[in-house]
Amino acid sequence: MTTTLITGANKGLGFETARQLVGAGHTVYVASRDAGRGRLAAERLGARAVALDVTDDASVAAAARAVEADGGLDVLVNNAGIQVEMEDGRVAGAAELTAEMMRRTFETNVVGMVRVLHAFLPLLRRSGAPVVVNVSSGLASLSRMTDPGMVGHAYPGVAYPASKAAVNMVTVQYAKAFPQMRINAVEPGFTRTDLNGNTGLQTVEQGAEIIVRMAQVGPDGPTGGYFDAEGPLAW
Ligand code: NAP
Repeated sequence: MTTTLITGANKGLGFETARQLVGAGHTVYVASRDAGRGRLAAERLGARAVALDVTDDASVAAAARAVEADGGLDVLVNNAGIQVEMEDGRVAGAAELTAEMMRRTFETNVVGMVRVLHAFLPLLRRSGAPVVVNVSSGLASLSRMTDPGMVGHAYPGVAYPASKAAVNMVTVQYAKAFPQMRINAVEPGFTRTDLNGNTGLQTVEQGAEIIVRMAQVGPDGPTGGYFDAEGPLAW
């Protein structure tokens, strides 16, 4: 039996990933920063609920203790993420970005991911087939963002793509440090969720597909890579 924890799983891509992995037979923890929203989502899915705010040391440590006491963890999906907006709903371009917006974005998307990895690594190291999926973005790709012909080139925001580029580097360095684990970054594609005011072009079913696929890689599968539904992406 494979046990999987997904951060930010009360809605959006995390919820859909939980739904598909429950369907694939995983025992799934819906991790949510709001205990009530998490419990409701878990009930709908036939999953377990655990309170976990990626920006809070005590919350993450308590979640790791609870999952450990219940038998441990095989798969960690680092999905929780934010895109900080200005008061008018736009993302801050280079002329508008403040240190505070940058700090808030990195606190959840990067520091939060490392906080969760640090707390759950001891559990993953005891698994026979440990897997980590870090939910990145196509906007993390330096190759794409510097190519005027590529989707995403015109995106003006700084903080969110920079945070996801850091997620990619975290992925590469952890994958080298833990060769017995499969640790990959994924780009779900532009998906209709609250993150983008539901303007995305894909359904959550389509967006979650690569997250679900990489959550199920076997010990001979890739590690230290960056993938979308079509295959490997240029960094
Ligand atoms: P979403 O619907 O806004 O869901 C984001 C989830 O993250 C929510 O469950 C949210 O919880 C949770 N979260 C935020 N801050 C948290 C914290 N401090 N601790 C724990 N959970 C927290 O957005 P989504 O599109 O599904 O995003 C999921 C991931 O996909 C993110 O990493 C995002 O960057 C990435 N992504 C999305 C797209 C896209 O087009 N949608 C494209 C590429 C990558 P609350 O409900 O409590 O706010």
